[in-house]
Amino acid sequence: KVVCVTGASGYIASWLVKLLLQRGYTVKASVRDPNDPNKTEHLLGLDGAKERLHLFKADLLEEGSFDSVVDGCEGVFHTASPFYFSVTDPQAQLVDPALKGTLNVLRSCAKVLSVKRVVITSSMAAVAYNGKPLAPDVTVDEAWFSDPALCERSKLWYMLSKTLAEEAAWKFGKENGIDIVAVNPGLVLGPLLQPSLNTSVEPVAKLVNGAETFPNAIYRWVDVRDVANAHILAFENPSASGRYCLVAEVVHCSEVLKLLHKLFPDLKLPEKCADDKPFPTTYKVSKERAQSLGLSFTSVEVSLKDTVESLKEKNFLS
Ligand code: NDP
Repeated sequence: KVVCVTGASGYIASWLVKLLLQRGYTVKASVRDPNDPNKTEHLLGLDGAKERLHLFKADLLEEGSFDSVVDGCEGVFHTASPFYFSVTDPQAQLVDPALKGTLNVLRSCAKVLSVKRVVITSSMAAVAYNGKPLAPDVTVDEAWFSDPALCERSKLWYMLSKTLAEEAAWKFGKENGIDIVAVNPGLVLGPLLQPSLNTSVEPVAKLVNGAETFPNAIYRWVDVRDVANAHILAFENPSASGRYCLVAEVVHCSEVLKLLHKLFPDLKLPEKCADDKPFPTTYKVSKERAQSLGLSFTSVEVSLKDTVESLKEKNFLS
């Protein structure tokens, strides 16, 4: 079977390409710069790549850029989207590539007959920011949708970009008869395949290098291998539909710090969180739908252990 992965050089997408090749798929993979070895070498070295990985050049903001990438593919995994928080022009840097890019990819899919399903990499950023109160007895689930107006008011630009992109995808899919499934991961941890740090792993690298302490915050953690696997399950399972929250554990940073101290007693880790404000309240995220796909979640402890081992192996530890 032939499938396509957009933004294949990225952290999550690299794992997705690896698992797809392992499962025998032929993968048409889009990257922005196929001549940049930092973006492609790790992909070209994957098992099966020589025979079944084909690289294409495509940019989210270039109309029609994905036409030849999706052509002949049964499944399209749309992962490409800018993921960073410090921006000077949120519209140009985040919202346009996320929103216009998603519609660009979907328009390419609508032009060909081969595409049976599109799996969109959305985010918990498009789920949890709707102003509903969070508390230990609250379970966030797929029925929640972030509120763009709230994201804009609160200057949560990345959250806004993912919310608008997912919202537009559902509308386009409905109007054009495209079968779409969305996966909504929390903050992704786990080993790196690519040679650079991405936005979700970089803070762990800084922390274990003693360059940063953890904020007094609660995150929704999930392992990159589970996220990649969920994409494939969402494509392969005929009855998959709608959205799937992907969160292994909702854990305060102080707990993560405790785990790191236990796992790596020799690292120069801070003793506690950045400030002593009262802890923000915890809550739950439903795993039911993800588990119904056959997904089981790696624990935060194992993810953290494998993340730090991978950072060591790739010389990111000072
Ligand atoms: P990375 O930064 O590693 O990957 C982002 C990918 O998007 C890169 O391949 C990048 O290409 C590509 N991209 C960005 N802008 C463009 C553009 N204009 N045209 C074409 N490609 C572009 O991030 P992650 O792997 O962490 O994230 C991948 C997806 O997962 C994103 O959609 C993100 O929103 C989502 N996600 C990530 C989470 C996380 O914690 N990591 C959590 C929830 C969702 P290039 O390499 O050329 O820059």
